[in-house]
Amino acid sequence: MPEFELIAQHFTRPTRHTHLGIGDDAALVSVAEGFELAVSADMLVSGTHFFADADPYQLGWKSLAVNVSDMAAMGALPKWATLAIALPQEYAVWLNEFSKGFFACADTFEIDLIGGDTTRTPIKEGLTISIQIMGEIPKGKAIKRNGAKIGDDIWVSGTLGKAALALRHLLGELIIPPAMLDEHLLALNMPQPRVTLGLALRGIATSCLDISDGILGDLQHILKASQVGAVVKLNALPTSKLIADQLSQSAIQNCLLAGGDDYELCFTAPKNKSGEIEALSQTLNLPLTKIGHITDEPKLQVLDADQQALVLNQLGYNHFQS
Ligand code: ADP
Ligand code: MG
Repeated sequence: MPEFELIAQHFTRPTRHTHLGIGDDAALVSVAEGFELAVSADMLVSGTHFFADADPYQLGWKSLAVNVSDMAAMGALPKWATLAIALPQEYAVWLNEFSKGFFACADTFEIDLIGGDTTRTPIKEGLTISIQIMGEIPKGKAIKRNGAKIGDDIWVSGTLGKAALALRHLLGELIIPPAMLDEHLLALNMPQPRVTLGLALRGIATSCLDISDGILGDLQHILKASQVGAVVKLNALPTSKLIADQLSQSAIQNCLLAGGDDYELCFTAPKNKSGEIEALSQTLNLPLTKIGHITDEPKLQVLDADQQALVLNQLGYNHFQS
């Protein structure tokens, strides 16, 4: 199929907030008066970010969802995306499912696909998906990483570690019992970006990011940017029952602390915002859990059930040692 037909068939849909969408040399959009544009990009490479035989619908969802998650983390409202894709061969059936998954996510968050690029790659498993996302934030209201203050509580949304556990299962490193498999696979394959939460956290959170590489590593980004430290309680981390029950095993702890692909938000907020955050959790029907607090000692400490600090390097977290 010629490229333009493929684009027309799979990627051209009516838009919501766009003056000129797919079909010209560039798209045209405008940002509302008093707002600024938030821009972010994420690339997914076959063999690195997904298995070559990954379900194309779920991959379509996830490719956009991980980008949407970056908008959520800034407190931005996502509006526009571009999609650059390198396809190994005639991928007609694959593209059909991929675009359905992509637009399921786009429709959920009311995002317009406004352009992109489609190229062929001669490499059989060289599928590469590169997405840029753009959103709006009222000027000066973005929730950045550098605002955490000593004494702030540290919060996370949803549950952590499930996607990492599912990945270990798919790699054959451990086995998830059948009754609990779907819950974990869904976390890996269909992450739910926390856009409504991100928007609601404007004016409440002092810093925020989305957890893509594990809470330990990602929280360090906030600590470094804000020039503060943190104490986190291992047992306070919200996770699945399966993970919580096996938390004494270091491989399981590793999934929870340093596994990837959670796409939950980690944010800090002053103690006096606790009530507001708990009410928000009710309204959004989304668990929001206090996992620790910000300190003036510039390091991250994780305390176990006996209040003992975990020796992070013994768990394979060497790169976090100061
Ligand atoms: P050009 O030759 O100017 O690069 P293309 O033929 O690559 O234009 O693309 C034609 C139109 O289709 C452009 O508006 C471009 O943004 C859009 N487009 C190309 N590939 C994709 C894609 N994968 N998803 C969305 N839009 C795309
Ligand atoms: Mg092009």
